[in-house]
Amino acid sequence: MTPPAAAAADLAVAQVQARLQALAAPLALTGRARPQTLALHEALGRVLAQDLISPLDVPPHDNAAMDGYAFDGQVLQDTPTDGRGWQWQVVGTALAGRPWTGTLQAGQALRIMTGAVMPAGADTVAPQELCSREGDTLRLPADAGLRPGAHRRLAGEDLAVGQCALPAGTRLGPAAVGLLASLGLASVEVLPALRVVLFSTGDELLEPGQPPRPGAIYDSNRYTLRALLARLGCEVLDLGQLADQPNVLEASLRQAAGQADVIITSGGVSQGDADHLRSVLQRMGQIDFWRVAMRPGRPLAVGLLPAPAPEAAARQALLFGLPGNPVAAMVSFLVFVRPTLLQLMGCSAPAELQPPVLRARSLNPIRKRPGRTEYPRAWLHAHPGRLPEVQVAAEQGSGLLSGMQAANALVLLPHDAGPVEAGDEVDVLLLDSLI
Ligand code: AMP
Ligand code: MG
Repeated sequence: MTPPAAAAADLAVAQVQARLQALAAPLALTGRARPQTLALHEALGRVLAQDLISPLDVPPHDNAAMDGYAFDGQVLQDTPTDGRGWQWQVVGTALAGRPWTGTLQAGQALRIMTGAVMPAGADTVAPQELCSREGDTLRLPADAGLRPGAHRRLAGEDLAVGQCALPAGTRLGPAAVGLLASLGLASVEVLPALRVVLFSTGDELLEPGQPPRPGAIYDSNRYTLRALLARLGCEVLDLGQLADQPNVLEASLRQAAGQADVIITSGGVSQGDADHLRSVLQRMGQIDFWRVAMRPGRPLAVGLLPAPAPEAAARQALLFGLPGNPVAAMVSFLVFVRPTLLQLMGCSAPAELQPPVLRARSLNPIRKRPGRTEYPRAWLHAHPGRLPEVQVAAEQGSGLLSGMQAANALVLLPHDAGPVEAGDEVDVLLLDSLI
C-alpha cells in the first residue's frame, strides 16, 4: 500500500516515538542521584529509586487460610478406619494474633481462624463448612476431598526474606504501597517528581472565570494537561496564558528551562499559525517542528531548551509543543508525552510504558486511509465469554472535547491499515490504562 503523496513528508507515529525515546534516554532521572524518602501515604505514583529487598518473610509464619480446624494431615492419606470419616478431639482455639502455644498430638485438632498461626503438630486446615462437631468431637466425612497441607499458607510464600520485593523503576500503585506496608516499612526511597512547566498562548484564549468575549474561547487544554500531569504524579508549575509577544515568550521559555525538567505548551505550532510561539521557538534553536502522520493530532514541536546562563551547561528542559485542538492535544499527550515523561521519571515497568492493547469487534465501519495512525474515540462494551465490541463515536472532530469525555477507549488503527468493515476485529486502548 502506497501512502498518498501528501503524507510523504510526515513522520509515522512509531518514528516519533523512537526519536523521543532516544532524546529522553540521557535525561532520565535514574541517572540523577537525588532520591527522596517519602512516607508511604505520599509515595503513590512515584518511582522506586532502588531495588527493594524484603527484610522479612511475608507472611511471617505458617497460618490458616480459612476458618476451620487444624490437625496433622498425615491421617488423610489413609482411608478412615470407621468408613464414615475421620474424628479428632478439639483441644483449644487459635485466633489471628492469639496463637495456641501447645503441640497437637495424634487424634487432636485445634479450632483455628483465618490468619491464626498454625500450631506445632498441624499442617492442614479443614474448612468449618466441611466439618461437624459435637462437644469436643470433630468429624470430617470420608468424601471431604481434603489433602494434607490444605488451606495452610506457608511462611514467606508471598515474599521470602532477602528476595527482591519490587525492582528499581517500579511506579508505586496501591498494591505496591500495601506491599511495602506488609514488609513493615513506613517510608520508601523514590526518585524525584518531574517538574513540568505548563502554559498556553493564543489571542483567542480566555481564562475560565472571565466573561465571554466575541471570537474568544476558553483555554481548556491547560486544564486537561494539568489533570493528566497530576495523574502522573508530576509537579506542575502552571504559568497560565502568556502574552503572545515575542519578548515575553522568549524570556518565559528561558526562565522555565532553568526551573523545569519539561515544558509543555499547546497551540501555535502548526504551519501558518499566526501566534508568535512557533517563530520564537524556531529562533531559540534545537526545536524540531514535526508533522506526524496521525489523527487526531499532527503538528508537534519537540526539542531541548537550555537553561539561561550560568546554569546553561548543566541543565536543559525538554519541550513539547502540542497541537491546539483539544482532542489532538490530549491524544498527542497520551501517545507521545506520557511515555516520555514516564521514561524521564525513571519508570521501567513495561506494563506502564506499553499499555495493554485489547482486541474487539467493531460495531461500525470506520473510514481510514493507509499512511497514518488513527485513534478514533470509542466506547468499549465487554461481554462475558466473547470478544468485546467497540463502537466508534459518530463525530471525530479534533476540537470536540465532549466526545473525548464520553469515550472509554481509543481504537488504534495502525499506520498501514485501510478502512474497517462492521464486524472486523480492531485494536483498542482503554483510556483508563492511559490516564
Ligand atoms: P492552533 O494549533 O494554535 O492553530 O490551534 C488550533 C485550534 O485549537 C484553534 O481552534 C484554537 O483556538 C484551539 N486552541 C488552541 N489553544 C487552545 C487551548 N489552550 N484550549 C482550547 N483550545 C485551544
Ligand atoms: Mg493558534
